Amino acid sequence: TQDVHIIGGGLAGSEAAWQLAATGLKVRLSEMRGGGDMTPAHESDRLAEMVCSNSFRSDDAENNAVGLLHQEMRALGSLIMMAADQHRVPAGSALAVDREAFAAEVTSRIADHPGIEVVRERVDALPASGSTIIATGPLTAPGLAEAIAKITGSDALAFFDAIAPIVHRDSIDMDVCWMAARWDKGGKDYINCPMTKDQYDAFVAALNEGEKTEFKEWEKDTPYFEGCMPIEVMAARGVETLRFGPMKGVGLDDPRTGRWPHAVVQLRQDNALGTLWNMVGFQTKLKHGEQVRIFRTIPGLENAEFARLGGIHRNSFIRSPELLDEQLRLKAMPNIRFAGQITGCEGYVESAAIGLLAARFAAAELQGRTLPTPPPQTALGALVGHITGGADAETYQPMNVNFGLMPPIEGPKAKKADRKRLYTDRARAALKEWLKSVPPQDPILGRGTK
Ligand code: FAD
Repeated sequence: TQDVHIIGGGLAGSEAAWQLAATGLKVRLSEMRGGGDMTPAHESDRLAEMVCSNSFRSDDAENNAVGLLHQEMRALGSLIMMAADQHRVPAGSALAVDREAFAAEVTSRIADHPGIEVVRERVDALPASGSTIIATGPLTAPGLAEAIAKITGSDALAFFDAIAPIVHRDSIDMDVCWMAARWDKGGKDYINCPMTKDQYDAFVAALNEGEKTEFKEWEKDTPYFEGCMPIEVMAARGVETLRFGPMKGVGLDDPRTGRWPHAVVQLRQDNALGTLWNMVGFQTKLKHGEQVRIFRTIPGLENAEFARLGGIHRNSFIRSPELLDEQLRLKAMPNIRFAGQITGCEGYVESAAIGLLAARFAAAELQGRTLPTPPPQTALGALVGHITGGADAETYQPMNVNFGLMPPIEGPKAKKADRKRLYTDRARAALKEWLKSVPPQDPILGRGTK
């Protein structure tokens, strides 16, 4: 019998299996592909198949948050990083891989590990007991998704990302925008970007003309809910639709005119640190380049830097900030941990990173100790902190790792390029400290960071 049951052999589940087995624990890894089932996006029965791009994004650990995450994962003996480094293809400063060789490498290393049993089976229920990690990804099979919804409440499991863009607070021009809530109710919680009639009309026209992405064939059959209608669909319904919806200016006195603006774009705080703000009601299927072009015409957002752009696509994920504890355990069933994209992180690297942490937490627990959560100054800590409590549960949407998830650097404002170095230098020092809490007998530690 196994010590830990992992469900899902994607990026997160494969990493988790490796990490657990490396500490000497016995793992059962259930993967439905190869056992008669397939997801709409995968093409093979290999573990850790990359369903779309072949890139793990920037490998620059000095200036980029995902590059920093690579470095931290390498320091913790990550299988995904090891296989990626081994099958790297030229891509400038990005870490891109030969996807087939990469997945074959992960599959054979896991299959060859004496501590891991790979079982090609679909799991439809949540195991009532025994340490379990659920890593079934954005395309979790429907039976298990239903079982999860039963435990978490169906409104806590999303089937679609309806993502509104998220903006770095320090890129918003507060000489143009102001803080207020409609009718002055409940504090000055929103950032408001005012628009004149001409600006609004031009904006609606730009939305109508902007290039959009299409739903994929298999996404058309997935249940879709009203209430997250794309802004361009609202714009197409008539020039005034947005002005009676998310862009209504009523009840918002612009301090510079003393009047309500013709229309307004509101941003709401998105993380506990207050570094990231989401554009309220701005979910969209506009192409990313078009979003940047059109949203920078909004007064106050001319120089906006986006932590993520909007989108709508199929993606199952749970409302982690309220459902999971700091150790990625389901509060309602603490024998179960969640890992990977189903927790609401976004991307191959982030999914694998959360798989790594879930496994480390589970291993420590089985060994009768507690591994402290990595500090928020590190990329790993920032990511897991966002998932397990930093983000607003109500508006929770999947997110890539970024510097906005870390506590801001205090002190005089450094130049942008220097700021990134300040974040990554601080992260390395914090990781080094945290690594001291990982026991020295741990066989896959000991290399430290640079
Ligand atoms: P996955 O890698 O999807 O692994 C989950 C595994 O669980 C799968 O192998 C699946 O077969 C298995 N499974 C599901 N249900 C069950 C069950 N009931 N029983 C047993 N096994 C089950 N990220 C990027 O970084 N770059 C991209 O270009 C990119 N493109 C994407 C395109 C699409 C269409 C989708 C859907 C996602 C994309 N992503 C991309 C996000 C990507 O899915 C994740 O980054 C990553 O694969 C998630 O890792 P994961 O381990 O959480 O899930």
